[in-house]
Amino acid sequence: MNEQADLVIVGAGLGGLVRALALAGEGRRIVILEAQDRFPVTRRGEILQPQGLAMLDQLGLLDAVRKAPCHVNEAFHFHRIGGSRLCTVDYRALEPPYNYCLVNLPSITQAAVLERLRAHPEVEIRMGCVFEGVIREGGRGEGGKITGVRYRRQGELVTVRTPLVVGADGIQSPVREALGIRARIHLYRDAYLVILAPRPPGFHHDGRYHLGRRQILGLFPISDDRLYLFYLVPRKALEAYQARGLPALREEISVIDPTLREPLEQVRSWEEVATMPCRRVRADRWTADGAVLIGDAAHAMNPHVGQGRNQAMADALALAPVLAACFRKGDFSRNALVAYEAARRPQVELLQRLADEETFFWNAGDPARVWLRDRVFRRMEAHPDVSWKILRNVAGLAVEPLTIRDRLRMVL
Ligand SMILES: Cc1cc2nc3c(=O)[nH]c(=O)nc-3n(C[C@H](O)[C@H](O)[C@H](O)COP(=O)(O)OP(=O)(O)OC[C@H]3O[C@@H](n4cnc5c(N)ncnc54)[C@H](O)[C@@H]3O)c2cc1C
Repeated sequence: MNEQADLVIVGAGLGGLVRALALAGEGRRIVILEAQDRFPVTRRGEILQPQGLAMLDQLGLLDAVRKAPCHVNEAFHFHRIGGSRLCTVDYRALEPPYNYCLVNLPSITQAAVLERLRAHPEVEIRMGCVFEGVIREGGRGEGGKITGVRYRRQGELVTVRTPLVVGADGIQSPVREALGIRARIHLYRDAYLVILAPRPPGFHHDGRYHLGRRQILGLFPISDDRLYLFYLVPRKALEAYQARGLPALREEISVIDPTLREPLEQVRSWEEVATMPCRRVRADRWTADGAVLIGDAAHAMNPHVGQGRNQAMADALALAPVLAACFRKGDFSRNALVAYEAARRPQVELLQRLADEETFFWNAGDPARVWLRDRVFRRMEAHPDVSWKILRNVAGLAVEPLTIRDRLRMVL
């Protein structure tokens, strides 16, 4: 089978779907290839940061997302396990209207985008289609270009001719591989166990973190009656946790926060606990002649900043004007696409660094780092200018690295 599309997007995660939506309505034929047969039911929550809210608003989707079960979260409180409050990060300090974050299920945002795409017959989502490779003319070197993709559906090999391929295919990114783009993939030492539990009666409106020695328990209301709970565990201990079983996990978590004892009784099988390893991706480049990478395929980051899906959306939107110019000129060379990468790298790299710094201190187990972490948290409110900078970076509203002076003031 041989057919033609203006654009092929590999991967129907949020990045790929938003990319299609941003281009829909311009009469271009867009084919999205998704390896999975159906959209999976996710067992974790997600934070939509203010930057993500602004982008959803720009796409006319924010109201739809807010109408579904979700939680408007205005502040996060950080507590020392077995001790006192360390600090509060208050999103209300940001400029309205995006001065909060939204906690919901990733499937809700995805469903809102899918619903909108339904009105665009020129966008076709093909489920159960596994990308296998790109088709080139003129070889890999100078003058060579991509002219299509090959994918497999139910054993059949299919070809689509296209001048442009978007690799929105996640951390392992077969598109990145096919393009021969080198990427450094880092698997973090710690992973998360994630549970969607009943929200304990009277649970505070705001999200909270309990931090200890190599212990993090995050508790975010996700709707009026559900709580998104994530618990840090060493990746190598995941099997041991599973072997010890649910009662031991419930006990360990309930010791940190006794209000969770009863809600966790209602989590009855290990099937309801999702295991989430964390990876960072640093791709050497995000563009090639006739191809771009977006989202995790280009730059997955540690979830401490709650930004992965937000950044996938930001890529998709930043690509829009660049692609408009490519279509106008009929030029899909790397030179024509590289403006997208130049526009996006500063924010992504700042967030990756910030997420790694948070990982280094928040996940700490040794007394020196734990002491330093707690000290910095306790001094956050005494230095509103520095906390404001951190908040705006995490919210995705600024790209403003901390200076050495900022850091020293937080510690000394
Ligand atoms: C524990 C944890 C918590 C997180 N919390 C948050 C959060 O609160 N907020 C946030 O913004 N981000 C969060 N993230 C990050 C977020 O999940 C990712 O950054 C985001 O999903 C990336 O989107 P994407 O579209 O780039 O890729 P993905 O969502 O990974 O989508 C890639 C798609 O490509 C498909 N695919 C792969 N190979 C092929 C192939 N050969 N052919 C066809 N299709 C293929 C896959 O099936 C998949 O559907 C978290 C991550 C973790 C691990």
